[in-house]
Amino acid sequence: MQGTQPMSNRILYVEDNFQNKRLVQKVLASRGYNVLEADDGLTGVEIALKEIPDLILMDISLPGIDGVEATQRIKAYTGTAHIPVIALTANAMRGDRERFIAAGCDDYLPKPISTADLLAMVQKYIQK
Ligand code: MN
Repeated sequence: MQGTQPMSNRILYVEDNFQNKRLVQKVLASRGYNVLEADDGLTGVEIALKEIPDLILMDISLPGIDGVEATQRIKAYTGTAHIPVIALTANAMRGDRERFIAAGCDDYLPKPISTADLLAMVQKYIQK
């Protein structure tokens, strides 16, 4: 994508799995995105409020509060309510997607993470 300024875009990735963090960090950093990381839901909420990232990738299964609860909190604050949140989870069951959307998630990305799908999703929400 030419003519865009991805260096200015910051993405918060809330994830407790090291392999996924490494993959997403590598893929997004190679495209010029600045990836902030949180290992659990509460830290994710704290960083979201403090840093106001352009996009949030939210694992659902997390230690402490889960990604659904963290998203509800982020969407409850006026300063962060506008930030798109993409839910990420493996083994999504029937009704999960609706549950994520109801919590305030803007979209959903299944695991295992596809690099192409990840980039397409990020571009959909960031490069407007
Ligand atoms: Mn997890």
